[in-house]
Amino acid sequence: MRIDVLSIFPAMFDGVLNESILKIAQRTDALEFHAHDLRDWTDDFHRSVDDSPYGGGAGMVMKVEPLACAIEAITAMDSCDPPRAPHVVFMAPAGTCFTQEIANTYAADHDRLLLVCGRYEGFDQRAFDWADECLSIGDYVLAGGELPAMVVIEAVARLLPSVLGNSESVLVESFSADNDGLLEHPQYTRPADFRGQKVPEVLLSGNHAEIEKWRQEQARANTRQLRPDLL
Ligand code: SAH
Repeated sequence: MRIDVLSIFPAMFDGVLNESILKIAQRTDALEFHAHDLRDWTDDFHRSVDDSPYGGGAGMVMKVEPLACAIEAITAMDSCDPPRAPHVVFMAPAGTCFTQEIANTYAADHDRLLLVCGRYEGFDQRAFDWADECLSIGDYVLAGGELPAMVVIEAVARLLPSVLGNSESVLVESFSADNDGLLEHPQYTRPADFRGQKVPEVLLSGNHAEIEKWRQEQARANTRQLRPDLL
């Protein structure tokens, strides 16, 4: 998969994309990542990407021209000929709330994503004509779309084939269909007894059917207690 991001702070992605899973994803060629500076598509001396809002009011609004020109130019950048059209996603508090299901769909159905990160008071409304979808990562307002874009990138990249060593681990986990959309069961590792707190007996029994039954019961109980809305 190829993921491009458009931002006025492309360097914010350096750390996150060069550690752990996202580094592995790029090393294994599962993920090709490019961060672009929106200011490269400005043509004034100050490289302005924002301007004051029509009608007055606080803050600045992201201008439509650099966004439109950048999205068109990035769309044409691809090692495939003809270039694959990216699924263009604007990060916005008013967007659809990002879920595991959306991450699954992106990993399975799209081979190119372009994530557009806002700043200031957000985008000129006309820029949304270039969006295939708008995504929010929750009902709160951040200063920019970069952290939300990183959330989306990590959630999607770990689902790509060959990125996680044990692909079973992405099938049966919280919110996944194979886990009935529930929270995951509790997990334990050595030692079997930590300051008197013992690992549940069944997990040491070696009886796989019993272990599976226990895990399903626990997943259901956990969900009932912590996230009844998922039941
Ligand atoms: N005035 C806007 C908020 C702008 S915040 C409003 O009231 O809706 C600036 C930018 O940060 C947004 O354009 C968006 O790209 C990003 N952003 C902030 N919170 C976000 C969230 N919860 N999910 C996704 N993007 C968010």
